[in-house]
Amino acid sequence: MSILIKNVLLKDKIVSILIEGNSIKKIATNVGSSADKIIDGSDKAVFPSFFNAHTHAGMTLFRGFGDDLPLMEWLETKIWPYEKYINENDVYWGTRLACLEMIKSGTTFFNDMYWMFPAAAQAVEDSGIRAAIAAVFIDSFEQEKANEQRKQNQRLYAEMSKYSDRIMFCLGPHAPYTVSLHSLEWIRDFSIENEVIIHMHLSETENEVKEFVEKYGKRPFEFLDDLGFLSSKVIAVHTIWLSDKEMNIIAERGVNVVHNPTSNMKLGIGGDIFHYRELKERGVNVCLGTDGAGSNNNLDMLESMKFAALLQKFHYSDTTVLPVREAFDMGTVNCANAFGINAGIIEEGKLADLVLVDISKPKMTPRHDILSNLVYSSNGECVDTVICDGKVLMENRVVEGEEEIVSKANEVAFEFMERKDMLDG
Ligand SMILES: [Zn+2]
Repeated sequence: MSILIKNVLLKDKIVSILIEGNSIKKIATNVGSSADKIIDGSDKAVFPSFFNAHTHAGMTLFRGFGDDLPLMEWLETKIWPYEKYINENDVYWGTRLACLEMIKSGTTFFNDMYWMFPAAAQAVEDSGIRAAIAAVFIDSFEQEKANEQRKQNQRLYAEMSKYSDRIMFCLGPHAPYTVSLHSLEWIRDFSIENEVIIHMHLSETENEVKEFVEKYGKRPFEFLDDLGFLSSKVIAVHTIWLSDKEMNIIAERGVNVVHNPTSNMKLGIGGDIFHYRELKERGVNVCLGTDGAGSNNNLDMLESMKFAALLQKFHYSDTTVLPVREAFDMGTVNCANAFGINAGIIEEGKLADLVLVDISKPKMTPRHDILSNLVYSSNGECVDTVICDGKVLMENRVVEGEEEIVSKANEVAFEFMERKDMLDG
C-alpha cells in the first residue's frame, strides 16, 4: 500500500510525500504521481503526529464526574469506589473513546496505565494507533497481592506476540506510596532482564514526598537510585517536587520525565511547578502528557503544549522559557525517542505517523509562523487528516465507526455507575 500526499506545506516549503508500507519513502517537490492513494495536500501543512506520554485512557468514562474536588476526596469518593465495578467491556469502549478523541486531535501514540490490559490492548488494535500499555501495579504492601500482580505481568508479557507491533508492553508500578519495596525490586529485575520500560507516577504532590521521606529516610529519586531502579527505561510521570540532587540523579541516569500541566493545574497540586528550566539545563529528556480525562478533562495534546509553555512563562516571569518549538518537541519527538519509536519528525525513513492540518482556518491565519499558529492559536480541531503506521485513520475529519464508539462509550459509562450504586449503595 502506498500513499502520495501532493503539494503539502512542510515547514516553509511545498513538497510531496510518498509513503510506502508503514514509512516515509520520499519527500521532494516532485515524487511522481503514482500511488494506491492520492491525498491533495493543498491548504494543508504536515506535522509529525502527537505523542501523549501519560494517560489513563479508560478514564474517559469518568470525564466530568467529580470535578473540582480535592485530589484525595476525588479519588476516594468518585474514582476508586466506582472503578471496582468496571469490567472488560467498559474498559474496551472507554479506551476506544480515548483513541477516537486522540485521532481526532492528531495523537497517534499514548503511554497508558490502567486496569484490564487485554481490553485496552484490543481497543488500541482496533483503533489503528500506537500505545505503550501498562497494567496498574498496586500491591498495597500486601504479599498476596504482590504475588498476583507479578503473575499477571508475567502472563501479559508472555502473551504480547498476539498483538501487532503497534502495541508495547510496559510495567506500571503506580507510585511509591502504593507499591512495596519488594515489588519495586522485582519490577527493576524484570525490566532489566526483558528490556521493558517502567511507567510510574513520581513526586506529584508535596505530601507524598514528605510521607516517603518519613518512611524511608530518603527522597524518592535518591531511594530509587540506591535501589538501582533508575535508567533510560524509566518514564517518570509528574516529577514536580524535586530537590537539586534528585534532578542531578535523573539527568545522570537518563530517566525520561513527563510533564502534565493541565492535570497539575486542575488538581491544584500547587506550591511548586514542573522545573522545566532546571531539568533542561541538565539535558533531561522531557515529554508531555494529558493525564487521564478524569483530571484534564480532554486528551488534546495541542492544548497541553500551550498550557505547558504558558505555565512556565508565568512561573519564572520569563517569556523566553519553553518556547513553542520545545513545547512541540515535548509532545512529539522527545516521547518517540523515550519509547524507541522511529517517528516524531517528518523525514525519509521515519515511520509514517503524521497529521495534515487545515491551514485555511481563521485561527491559522495569517501565516507568520505556522508552528506558533498550531500550538498557541489552534487546538486539536484543526487536524484534518491522520496517518499512523502508513494507514489513514482520519480523512477530512471523518473516522470510521465514530458514531458507534461515542454511543457505546456513553452507554457503558452510565451502566457501571448504576451497577455500583445498586450493589454498593
Ligand atoms: Zn496519571
